[in-house]
Amino acid sequence: MGEGQTIVIVGAGQAGGWAAQTLRSEGFAGRVVLVGDEPHRPYERPPLSKAVLAGEAPEGSTALMKPEAFDKLHIDWRADTAVSAIDRAARQVRLQAGDAIGYDKLILCTGGRARRLDIPGADLPGVFTLRSIADARSLGAALLPGKRLLVVGGGWIGLEVAATARRKGMEVTVVEAAARLCERTVPPEISDHLLELHTAHGVQVLLGTGIESFAALPQGLSAVLGNGQRLDCSAALVGVGMVPNDGLARAAGLQCDGGVWVDAQCRSSDPDILAAGDVAAWHGQWAGRRMRLESWQNAQEQGIAAARSALGMAVNHQPLPWFWSDQYDVNLQIFGMPAPGHERVLRGDPASGSFVLFFLEQGKVVAALGPNAAKDLRFARRLIERGTHVDAQKLADLQIPLAKL
Ligand SMILES: Cc1cc2nc3c(=O)[nH]c(=O)nc-3n(C[C@H](O)[C@H](O)[C@H](O)COP(=O)(O)OP(=O)(O)OC[C@H]3O[C@@H](n4cnc5c(N)ncnc54)[C@H](O)[C@@H]3O)c2cc1C
Repeated sequence: MGEGQTIVIVGAGQAGGWAAQTLRSEGFAGRVVLVGDEPHRPYERPPLSKAVLAGEAPEGSTALMKPEAFDKLHIDWRADTAVSAIDRAARQVRLQAGDAIGYDKLILCTGGRARRLDIPGADLPGVFTLRSIADARSLGAALLPGKRLLVVGGGWIGLEVAATARRKGMEVTVVEAAARLCERTVPPEISDHLLELHTAHGVQVLLGTGIESFAALPQGLSAVLGNGQRLDCSAALVGVGMVPNDGLARAAGLQCDGGVWVDAQCRSSDPDILAAGDVAAWHGQWAGRRMRLESWQNAQEQGIAAARSALGMAVNHQPLPWFWSDQYDVNLQIFGMPAPGHERVLRGDPASGSFVLFFLEQGKVVAALGPNAAKDLRFARRLIERGTHVDAQKLADLQIPLAKL
């Protein structure tokens, strides 16, 4: 791949931004077209539920790189431009405005969109979802001290918004249909910890309760919950997961099922079309199954991997999954993919607010997670990556530094 050739990236988010800058840092001198349907240069989303939403950091602080650095890459960046179709036979992407761009390689970094509720009143003003800077702007303006925010969904985004809204002086109710918080991603010990954390900060958490409808009030909304209870609020945030934007790929006949299927070289079922970030699904060595990772780390690393792969470089994208969340003064981190079948070892006292839960498979640590335990988790990461056999009793013993295991 070189001069005279064109690589088109669809989606100017985190993965797309990393793909574009990697093409240049790896020496690609051809044309790079980065098509994004948002008005912004590539940016990172984690602050949108935290400091940016709280109004403590400006929107611009989430930019992946400084505008001058981005401009120096000489990327043909098309802002506010949506790709509407891929014509694989003509090797072109079609833009919604009608024109087309030819490609030699195409990288899909289209991310996902917030899942919406299919209930009466879901589209009323005051019912928000959170994915983009525009969403954070709208939701942020509705975080009014003294008013009540209803958060639908006790997952990461819902809980982070709940924490931010409390910081802004709102009353907050979280309703979660499952029996515990973040049920899909963490074991019960961590769900319990999160429940205690939010309850201690004055959040009302209703578990095992869905939502049936929203209706408009003169000043706000009235929600009917699954248990029949009526709850009035000034605004609601729906945080019930995301849907991967794989529609373009599916319409083009690429293999997809809950995301664009790729291999560890980020190649889809058409080897000239690659995918990275939240939209890509591949066989993850750490999970032992096909998966998508909705995380900052994966968006960056898979964006880089896809760009290198497009240039014909050897790539094997199998990162140890890493995810973090910040709520109040708690930083929670997860390494690896904890599963119910793993042996569990607790290090530290949950009541202290800082502990690590290790997950072992045949004597090896395969995952670890915990709140406010960044130092131990750094060592845990090493144990996982090295596949070290450990003694469970020693792992649990706070007198034995993890560095010695
Ligand atoms: C509020 C929030 C908080 C988060 N917090 C954390 C956190 O604390 N820790 C963590 O690890 N992860 C967090 N994440 C997840 C992380 O931000 C995502 O995994 C990451 O943004 C995925 O990057 P991406 O490039 O795949 O997708 P995105 O960043 O979503 O980028 C995709 C881009 O493609 C555009 N697009 C889609 N279709 C088209 C089309 N047809 N034409 C043109 N453009 C298109 C989209 O509009 C978007 O701009 C958070 C996410 C959100 C939303």
